[in-house]
Amino acid sequence: MKITQVRLGRISTPLRVPFKTALRTVNSVEDVIVELHTDTGAVGYGEAPPTGVITGDTTGAILGAIQDHIAPALLGRDLDEFEDLTAAVQKALVHNTSAKAAVDMALWDLLGQKYSAPVYRMLGGARRNIVTDITISVNPPEEMARDARTAVQRGYDCLKVKVGIAAVRQAVGRDIKLRIDANQAWNAKQAVRILNQMQEKGLDIEFVEQPVPAADLEGMQYVTRHADVPVLADESVFSPADALRIMQTGAADLVNIKLMKCGGITNALRIAAAAEVYGVECMIGCMLEAKISVNAAVELACAKKIITKIDLDGPVLCSEDHILGGAVFDEKNITVSDAPGMGIQGFVPGKVSYLD
Ligand code: MG
Repeated sequence: MKITQVRLGRISTPLRVPFKTALRTVNSVEDVIVELHTDTGAVGYGEAPPTGVITGDTTGAILGAIQDHIAPALLGRDLDEFEDLTAAVQKALVHNTSAKAAVDMALWDLLGQKYSAPVYRMLGGARRNIVTDITISVNPPEEMARDARTAVQRGYDCLKVKVGIAAVRQAVGRDIKLRIDANQAWNAKQAVRILNQMQEKGLDIEFVEQPVPAADLEGMQYVTRHADVPVLADESVFSPADALRIMQTGAADLVNIKLMKCGGITNALRIAAAAEVYGVECMIGCMLEAKISVNAAVELACAKKIITKIDLDGPVLCSEDHILGGAVFDEKNITVSDAPGMGIQGFVPGKVSYLD
């Protein structure tokens, strides 16, 4: 199976409601699509959202990285060189982890198709169903409380919130899990004070995501030691080396794996392997992404028991689905596809604008 063409396109998916965080407001998911075509007719699919404020990867940067650097490293090569191909993706240029993730997942898709097995099975996975949380968009507290109640009515039993935590806890009661994402907002001493106050008030926080700036690993270690809430590292962890450093120094209790930060399934497996060695449980998360790339994260989550927390709400935040096949996203319940590879069968006609 030889790679004959790397085809690029763009796809736009409207959100149910505008998504707001401290950094931005977004009305639709605008993703880059990658298709790896082969001489057997098999097509591997990948996807990357341009999340400039987190990864630095813009639409132009993703397209340019694939077109000018990654595609030339793959064209004409055989899938049997799989290890070398995944390494070539990572070595093609520095950074640009979203572009690398999109191509890496397309290679895994092809590998599964070649051997007629779903990717999660190739990785040794046994579970087919996972349960995701949902993020409550940043709004005035009363609006967040209402959105939180609506989410619970839709069946969610775990909510992720960025602000308005007291209002949300009051709205949903004690049985719903609340995880919070500080998105680097505090310094270490502030974080400890705020988190301990929250617990004293009975807000019962499951864990806090990235309380301090990404580069402040000593600060995060201080919070991990002194706060009465488990700490999950997100923006501090891009590469496997980042994850390893955090595990070695005990800078966080948990690590958030995102394919767009680490550069795809191949590197995510390296993070998961380190986490298994250190006994550090992982969350798997996504950006605002449509179904191909979140589907790849689902394959991984179904294969690795060290991934105990699921934050894959990208597809359920969208009001339309232009992608055929893959995992079934039914509110909090996600069921992985048993089709070979990633199970993606293409797109609703006319929804992808191809570059060629
Ligand atoms: Mg986060």
